[in-house]
Amino acid sequence: MRIAIDGPAGSGKSTIAKLVARNLDFVYIDTGAMYRALALKAACNSIAFEDEQAMSEMMNHTYFSLSEQGITLDGVPLGEEIRTREVSMLSSDIARYPYVRAYLTEQQRNLSKQGNVIMEGRDIGTVVLPDAELKIFLTASVEERAKRRLMQLSESGQRADFSTILSEIEERDRNDSTRELAPLKPAEDSILLDTTGVTIEEIVEKISALAIKRQRTYLARSVGFCYGVDRAVNEAMKLLKSGKRIFATGEIVHNERVINLLRDMGLEIVNEKDLQERREGVAIIRAHGIDPKSEKKLREVFDEVIDLTCPIVYNVFSLAVDLQTQGNFVVVFGKKNHPEVVALSGRLREYMIVEPGEDYQTIVNRLSGKGKIAVISQTTMSCDDFSEFSDFLVGNSKEQVSIYNTICRVTVERESEARRLAEIADTVIVIGGRNSSNTRKLVDIVGKLGKHALHIQDIRDLPEKSKMGKIGLISGTSTPYEQIQNILDYIENEREVTSNGRENEPAG
Ligand code: SF4
Repeated sequence: MRIAIDGPAGSGKSTIAKLVARNLDFVYIDTGAMYRALALKAACNSIAFEDEQAMSEMMNHTYFSLSEQGITLDGVPLGEEIRTREVSMLSSDIARYPYVRAYLTEQQRNLSKQGNVIMEGRDIGTVVLPDAELKIFLTASVEERAKRRLMQLSESGQRADFSTILSEIEERDRNDSTRELAPLKPAEDSILLDTTGVTIEEIVEKISALAIKRQRTYLARSVGFCYGVDRAVNEAMKLLKSGKRIFATGEIVHNERVINLLRDMGLEIVNEKDLQERREGVAIIRAHGIDPKSEKKLREVFDEVIDLTCPIVYNVFSLAVDLQTQGNFVVVFGKKNHPEVVALSGRLREYMIVEPGEDYQTIVNRLSGKGKIAVISQTTMSCDDFSEFSDFLVGNSKEQVSIYNTICRVTVERESEARRLAEIADTVIVIGGRNSSNTRKLVDIVGKLGKHALHIQDIRDLPEKSKMGKIGLISGTSTPYEQIQNILDYIENEREVTSNGRENEPAG
């Protein structure tokens, strides 16, 4: 669900949006932070904002996504580095460029599809999210807003005079509502809330109640592609549009629909064994990576090889090699046939792969005499399974054991969301490919908590709707937002559901 809050300066929208997000367990999207982060990235790469070509090239390879810690840029959560005065000035500067605004508006729309989100600003309901499920336009009298601003300033030790602030706000209102680019005005279908003389708590309660009334399905805080998959799919699409012949050995991500879409765009999936002669075209390396021997073969056969291995996966490969160089025997906790584990073990001279549920005492016996042992994990394994194995090994082995938890943060967050949904819903729908390891893991988690987990790939897999009760919805990291939105639309429009467990209301 998306909530858009707009309103003039001083109407309290940012404080209110953050409190509503906390109240409802929604993600607050700080659109200003995105301008700051982009400005900082450009500055770090010495790209001038007026150089539209260089900026576009950089933006083309920039990935924003959502995590429990808020917005991430290229897989890294935004931190204090974007809060300096210097970055603040850079961000006001970059916001003047219409091509940057258009790019970030698109990014904000994409983020809004990744879960339950709340966004505030001056053109969110009208320009950024015109199809938000709930639109609020906050307002307050000019005098009230001037009073609030005066209080804010005096709390921070700054002196100001009421009439000056009043005329500044009047001036700003005039500019905001008459500017050419996205003028400030309420969306036609927004709910107007006047905050004059009303406490913040009352407004937060009112907006939360409106949202609960409209929310019909519990959606996980973050759904859709993770950073690594988003990057691989987008880069592959750009290459396919270039007109060159593009090849891959195997599925570049674990999602049938995505693979079919890429095939329709021209992606040729070939068997490595059939690669004997030189071929014209570009080979891409999947998000899970491939082993060095296979990569060498690709480089011999194709004109060019583009590596789309997720950088987080790549870091795990490098860690494993470093650990081996430092004299450790490397134990990989993962699925033997998973492409990431195959790619990882192909980089090691000596290793052991351990799967969840194996006889761990036998593993301890087999590791006897290895000296220094380093344990790492496939990035998409379950944290509980990894802890169970590593605790057993540390507690029972006489060797020197070091544990490196290399499970990706995104998959850890989805695990905790699956648990949350299992607590509040009767049926948890898990959308994702049948061969996606992280999707199957979510299904297992829900099942172990005694709730009905429904692993589906598309609408056709849904059972009779009346049998699902309260619905929770989550996805694996290779599931595109469009697939999730289709299922969400179908559920919300076709069936009568219990809204957030508080009241029944007919769909429609
Ligand atoms: S889940 Fe895997 S592909 Fe996705 S960001 Fe994490 S490590 Fe990368």
